[in-house]
Amino acid sequence: QAKSQGGGEFRFFSDSMNKNSAARARLESDLRRAVAGDAFTLYYQPKLDLKTNRFSSMEALIRWPRGDGMVSPADFIPLAEETNLIVPLGAWVLRRACRDTMALSERIGWVPGIAINLSARQFRQPGLIDVVRIALEESGIPPEKVELEITEGMVMDDVEAAIDTMQALRDLGVQLAIDDFGTGYSSLSYLKRFPVNTLKLDRAFIRDLPHGVEDTAITEAVIALAKALKLHVVAEGVETRDQLTFLGTRHCGYVQGFLLARPGPLENMPAIFLNDFV
Ligand code: C2E
Ligand code: MG
Ligand code: MG
Ligand code: MG
Repeated sequence: QAKSQGGGEFRFFSDSMNKNSAARARLESDLRRAVAGDAFTLYYQPKLDLKTNRFSSMEALIRWPRGDGMVSPADFIPLAEETNLIVPLGAWVLRRACRDTMALSERIGWVPGIAINLSARQFRQPGLIDVVRIALEESGIPPEKVELEITEGMVMDDVEAAIDTMQALRDLGVQLAIDDFGTGYSSLSYLKRFPVNTLKLDRAFIRDLPHGVEDTAITEAVIALAKALKLHVVAEGVETRDQLTFLGTRHCGYVQGFLLARPGPLENMPAIFLNDFV
């Protein structure tokens, strides 16, 4: 019987499972309240244009202040997806990011680009097109300044439907980027058919530059691929001078990473955008 043989172990396992599901239930109810109560904030991470050595755009990264710290999006976006809370949350991000960008433009005298991450479920929502249209209209942002980031995994389960959605978004005038490029199912034949503007090379390939033989080859190949397909290329997760130098000599168009700037609140952006990166 279970009680005599390893019953203690079973109980331990069961307790920890209960604890986890209690923690999850609490996270879920907090998340629900946070979505209803507008308790989120957006951080922004600037992107450097290597041709001009100036920051030209930024990526919106959601933050949830909870207790003493910030809950990482890696910890609540999946839950927001499962519970469908991503729909109102994603709409909030789109509207807020566009509005913030126009507020920043007042401070710096020009409109920077804004990259906004979409999640899988948000991308499949039929209402997405209207949400994007509303965010554009109410903020007055020039649509071509907005770049929506999707991942390979989001498009591969129904490629035809995904292409339709991508085209409908492009018809609104916004740009599209493939985020974390190289980590999903990279089908080069599909890439040709996707109406995207930008590839964001995943930081996994940047980490071992300039010495890693494979990462060097992959990075050079993706830069060449992007050039051949007339796409922009952004290197994510640039943390060292050596990485930056490597990417510069290989003519990577744009870089983003802690070396250039960590994600921060909107208030930090004017000073960054008004200066060259040195
Ligand atoms: P992502 O879109 O690939 O964003 C890049 C992540 O790498 C961010 O983490 C950023 O803070 C981090 N990062 C940037 N530069 C460096 C670097 O030099 N070194 C290292 N180690 N990390 C760097 P974050 O903000 O925690 O976001 C994680 C992921 O959560 C994002 O990955 C994105 O997939 C998702 N996410 C963030 N905000 C949103 C959002 O508003 N909506 C949706 N759907 N997803 C979001
Ligand atoms: Mg991203
Ligand atoms: Mg990424
Ligand atoms: Mg990522």
